[in-house]
Amino acid sequence: MTRYIFVAGGVISGVGKGVATASIGKILQSKGFQVSAMKIDPYVNVDAGTLNPLEHGEVFVTNDGTECDQDVGNYERFLNQDFSTANYLTTGRVYQSVIAKERNLEYGGKTVEVGLHIPEEVISRLQLVAEHDHADFVLVEVGGTVGDYQNVLFLEAARLLKRRIQENVLFVLVTYLPVPGNLGEMKTKPTQHAVRALNAAGIQPDFILARSAFLVDEPRKRKISDFCNVDPQDVISAPDVESIYEIPVNLEEEDLGNRILEKFHIKPREKDLADWRKLVEVIGKKGKPEVRIGIVGKYFEIGDFTLMDSYLSVIEACKAAAWRFSSEPKITWLSAEQYEKNPEQVQELEQYDGVIVPGGFGTRGVEGKIKAIEYCRTRQIPYFGLCLGLQLAIIEFARNVCGVKDATSREFDADAENPVIDVMEEQKALLAEKKYGATMRLGAYEAELKKDTIAYGAYKTTKISERHRHRYEVENSYRDLLEQHGFVISGVNPQRNLVEIGELSNHPFFLGTQFHPELTSRPLQPHPLFLAFLEAAIKRREKQGQRG
Ligand code: GLN
Repeated sequence: MTRYIFVAGGVISGVGKGVATASIGKILQSKGFQVSAMKIDPYVNVDAGTLNPLEHGEVFVTNDGTECDQDVGNYERFLNQDFSTANYLTTGRVYQSVIAKERNLEYGGKTVEVGLHIPEEVISRLQLVAEHDHADFVLVEVGGTVGDYQNVLFLEAARLLKRRIQENVLFVLVTYLPVPGNLGEMKTKPTQHAVRALNAAGIQPDFILARSAFLVDEPRKRKISDFCNVDPQDVISAPDVESIYEIPVNLEEEDLGNRILEKFHIKPREKDLADWRKLVEVIGKKGKPEVRIGIVGKYFEIGDFTLMDSYLSVIEACKAAAWRFSSEPKITWLSAEQYEKNPEQVQELEQYDGVIVPGGFGTRGVEGKIKAIEYCRTRQIPYFGLCLGLQLAIIEFARNVCGVKDATSREFDADAENPVIDVMEEQKALLAEKKYGATMRLGAYEAELKKDTIAYGAYKTTKISERHRHRYEVENSYRDLLEQHGFVISGVNPQRNLVEIGELSNHPFFLGTQFHPELTSRPLQPHPLFLAFLEAAIKRREKQGQRG
């Protein structure tokens, strides 16, 4: 029997529903249950693949090649589990399948109605997740904020499911309690309104997860309890934390796990977040030696604000590996476009222990990234290229070492004479017909590794499988030239003979991957390549320490 826990958000967006969902899942998993999670995004896009990262943060990719919301990445990282297309839903996906069914006469000539058939389709998707992941619990995160009209049909599906299987459905409302600076007092009114809005959708929350800058005190818990119809012990305090990984531990302090089980009439179980607690201890330990990682990118400036969301998995992968070495990750954003305007500025990379060029699309910032890569290569600074970061490392090497001065990627120049990175054959027709959605080389593909390479040293096996998201690839006709000049192709996809990993041997760490290793790094299981990169970065730090 599967139980469903819906997690909705109130008051403001960005209140931390995703991490709350993942944390509740972690707690139940640690009590020995099989847990699955689903993200529902209210937007009409069929998937996140066509969204600009500045618009919606990182596009996460699952093994089966689904381009989805970054919260699915949070679920994978917290639960240390692989998810798939079943774990992600959007308004676009729901309508697409309802319309396809209607065209196939699957509704038997009935009028297909928004208020009826759309929630039914959502419910059938929820049941699919339960079956697919053999879940005791399915956590369902409803995107958006209660009171929006965009997610009303998802709340309607939740209400209907509750109506049908009463005691097997619970609702958690994650709200925000502001402490206005001029008042210096935590206010509960917005939460009361959010609960009213949820009530208007026919839903009574079982738990209120009260996000705030501080712990929620007893008088306020009682007030929320009185006005919102929940027991005071079901108003769970979730204050701001330094690291999101503390949250499962904090929620367990409030005994959330057993309160959930109680409501489902399941006997309480021992808390056991042993591994997780150990991790949180390492994260919180003060005075760890810092390791400085620079990320040269472009998807992080919006007006006066710097957003880290676009590279979320890269950051988390760096952190996980740094913590494994009991180091404090210090991650800095470096603007590729600045290096184009002012090439001298690239010398600032000297201060870093390691540099990453992450994934990216289009020409903006590309020449700046190439300058950064050249600097890292010639100055022996550990360099890790992810997808575009591999492609640009090859362009840089072709130009500056092999002497192919006009080497570039077809992505930046349709008429390139020397496209060392070229469009993949099967992509040509797709691009010509503007079929952009879900058509990249997506998801997990195999690679075979060459022994005696950095890659093999990290993985300690010759067969790997990693997740992809790209349209361009290393043009094989340039491989000989690259190798003659010392570039090592250390990983190749055996089915298609595509370059998957490239590296340099006369360097402390210089490696790029066509795939995205950051997507499979987990806090309790850092990715082997991130570990190898961080190890090299820490060595550089130590050497510099001796010098300094
Ligand atoms: N734009 C490049 C491609 O499509 C790299 C993609 C990426 O970095 N994810 O091949």
